[in-house]
Amino acid sequence: TGTTMPGVAPALAGDIGEVLVSADEIARRIGTLAARVDADYAGRELLLVGVLKGAVMVMADLSRALRTPVTMEFMAVSSYGSATSSSGVVRILKDLDRSIEGRDVLVVEDIIDSGLTLSWLLKNLRSRQPASLEVLALFRKPEAITVDIDVRYVGFDIPSAFVVGFGLDYGEHYRTLPFVGTLTPEAIARGPRV
Ligand code: 5GP
Ligand code: MG
Ligand code: MG
Repeated sequence: TGTTMPGVAPALAGDIGEVLVSADEIARRIGTLAARVDADYAGRELLLVGVLKGAVMVMADLSRALRTPVTMEFMAVSSYGSATSSSGVVRILKDLDRSIEGRDVLVVEDIIDSGLTLSWLLKNLRSRQPASLEVLALFRKPEAITVDIDVRYVGFDIPSAFVVGFGLDYGEHYRTLPFVGTLTPEAIARGPRV
């Protein structure tokens, strides 16, 4: 973690504590998950629902790794809470553009922590009567495993530390890091960059 990291703005490089999952590992895992999704949905067409903004990177890479025909929709939700934890009180900032009734829907998520956001989202989407509704999350933290939500595809189970990169932000920064890592205590204490 010096000041030069490939794909990382020099101004941000010093803020990274530890790389938890490398860019290569992420790419390989998305390929593996895509193959599983292809096998499971053979002969069908999938509607990928990405949850903005964190899921944009996994959405971009997953959708291009799939052989299954897909269309994409995006939703933006905000869960009230601090910069580093969520409360389960969810508000729709941007809804889907079209109906999902009768469609095979795969929700594409960046990370599940408490699971509160996803649990709310699944209930909301289920009420729109899709033919099927499953979830792919690139990362999952320990707490989420105790919550009663069925996540069909999980990329990596990671420790409960707050992480950034590959779509995940702190104060809207760090989303473009090609890997996922922790922030230094100094970077966290300094607060979200503006
Ligand atoms: P949950 O409701 O499962 O606690 O978390 C919902 C959302 O909070 C995630 O989709 C993600 O956007 C954000 N989040 C949860 N954990 C982390 C984390 O470690 N880092 C970042 N940057 N965002 C997180
Ligand atoms: Mg998310
Ligand atoms: Mg965020």
